[in-house]
Amino acid sequence: MPMIEISNISASYGKHLALDGVSLKVGSGELVVILGANGAGKTTLLKVIGGLVPAPGGRITMAGKEITGVPAHDIVESGVALVPEGRGIFGEMTVRENLLLGAFPARAREAEVRNLAMVLSLFPRLNERLRQTVRTMSGGEQQMVAIGRALMSAPDILLLDEPSLGLSPIMCKELFQILARIRDAGLGILLVEQNAKQSLKIADRGYLIESGRIVGEGTGAALKGDPAVQRAYLGAG
Ligand code: ATP
Repeated sequence: MPMIEISNISASYGKHLALDGVSLKVGSGELVVILGANGAGKTTLLKVIGGLVPAPGGRITMAGKEITGVPAHDIVESGVALVPEGRGIFGEMTVRENLLLGAFPARAREAEVRNLAMVLSLFPRLNERLRQTVRTMSGGEQQMVAIGRALMSAPDILLLDEPSLGLSPIMCKELFQILARIRDAGLGILLVEQNAKQSLKIADRGYLIESGRIVGEGTGAALKGDPAVQRAYLGAG
């Protein structure tokens, strides 16, 4: 059974149809990437799943249980964690405070100590900087705080909106390696990315989105070898 299944999602901003009948799924331990140009609807898709944008007529299930229309603050209790573009962390607080805020959902409180140890082993750099004010950290470190905080909510599926944005090539590589490890630990990951090259390297599967519609899908390897994908996203030809 897929961990999360999205069927026939459409979403509009006024008259503008941003998503038009999108269906996709992500399994446990599966990393799925969404590739698309600016304005294709990628962020909107994650916001719909996160309960931040309504999608009347569509259906979303988590482990077979319907979560369509569940408000954002309750979605996290069903095991979905969103790391938004721009990260959504608290700059004036320390790393430790930001991480502990992530453990607020009822599903995560009991396992707070264990999850903190897991996050700090995944991101040793955060372990060294638990008392640092987040605002003073580099972009890559702040992204790690954002992902770490999402993991503190004990999710089954992690939604990531362009986590590599603004990171140096080395930081990018490190980030993608960590995402692969999180997937290997059994979580489902739905990753929206501009960095097609790096993300297809670690993705099990991917979808192409264009003007709010899914126009292609395949394994990471198949997409990487597809001439149309190479032209549109990998800078070939
Ligand atoms: P990018 O890669 O540039 O972030 P995206 O694929 O994430 O793009 P979305 O942010 O989902 O795209 O936007 C899809 C479409 O919906 C765009 O045409 C955008 O202008 C429009 N849109 C997004 N948010 C709003 C909003 N709050 N009000 C009106 N239109 C919006």
